[in-house]
Amino acid sequence: MTVTSEAPTTRRTRGILIASLTSACGCACVFCGLPDSRPHTVLPVETLTTAVSRPPDGATRWEEVNITGGDPLVMPAARRLFPALLSLRPYYERLSVSTAGVPARATLAGLDELDDGSPLDVYVSLDGVGEVHDRVRRRPGAFAEVSAFLAEARRRDSVSVALTCVINRLNVDGLDDLADHAEAEGLPVSYAVVNSSDHYINSLPLYRDVSLTPEQSAAAVDFLTRRSRQRLDTDLRSVLRGEARRLPCRLLHRGALLTSDGAVAICGTSQRMVLADALPGDDLAGAWDGALGRRRELLSAGAAQTCRTCTTNCFAWRSSDGPIPG
Ligand code: SF4
Ligand code: SF4
Repeated sequence: MTVTSEAPTTRRTRGILIASLTSACGCACVFCGLPDSRPHTVLPVETLTTAVSRPPDGATRWEEVNITGGDPLVMPAARRLFPALLSLRPYYERLSVSTAGVPARATLAGLDELDDGSPLDVYVSLDGVGEVHDRVRRRPGAFAEVSAFLAEARRRDSVSVALTCVINRLNVDGLDDLADHAEAEGLPVSYAVVNSSDHYINSLPLYRDVSLTPEQSAAAVDFLTRRSRQRLDTDLRSVLRGEARRLPCRLLHRGALLTSDGAVAICGTSQRMVLADALPGDDLAGAWDGALGRRRELLSAGAAQTCRTCTTNCFAWRSSDGPIPG
């Protein structure tokens, strides 16, 4: 297909695209199935280009493109996709990147390559302070590394940093330390709760070792009540109590997840959300449009039932997304 990097003439902006550039990263988090997935995959540049340049519903650009992984800033093969991504800026309003910031030097090299001076949101995983974080990442020194990355990244005018924390069995007793640390650093932090599909559907065996006990769920509810101000708080507490989540999700409404193996899904929490397995190379544009077009069919078949117990917060409806859909 032919893709132009000239600005589209109309500006209908719609949806969020999460593109996982690679399944490899520098950590082996206790709740993540990606480190064990082999062989690691890297998103083909043609697939990335097709997805970015074809937002949903005839829109001319995405509200946001988020690149994730694995760790897109750390892995050189993922970083080689940055020039193509940056050349497609007219097709998205905002760019964000998710990273663990470990190791710091490699992550900063990646940030150098991605930061072209335009606004860039950087979501950094921080699951505890000191050894708690190291244990969750399963990497000694991870807290020191991510701290070094944060210090450097925050010096950049174009970069906005926010922390994300996945509450799990290993860090649930250290959440106040984390909140104190984030407060002292002046960094916003949002919370999710580990679930059976973190990360990318395939980590159910890990979940058994890191899921919250009933007592820990109660402690997490207490913590969120006292310390967190995110819009999803009420729903996270409901789900922890066994009730349904209500806050809509940007992915459910107009989002798409493109994984590094070329599969397309509404999100990564369930097989029910998968819109297409690996896209065929011979008609990428048609296959991409066809995958996005299956959303209605999946939702009619009840895929959104998954949302009732979803404890992922990253793409919860924000105040700036306007009125909550009925
Ligand atoms: S959660 Fe992220 S940083 Fe941790 S192992 Fe998985 S991909 Fe890597
Ligand atoms: S399962 Fe969670 S992440 Fe997926 S669409 Fe529903 S609320 Fe969003």
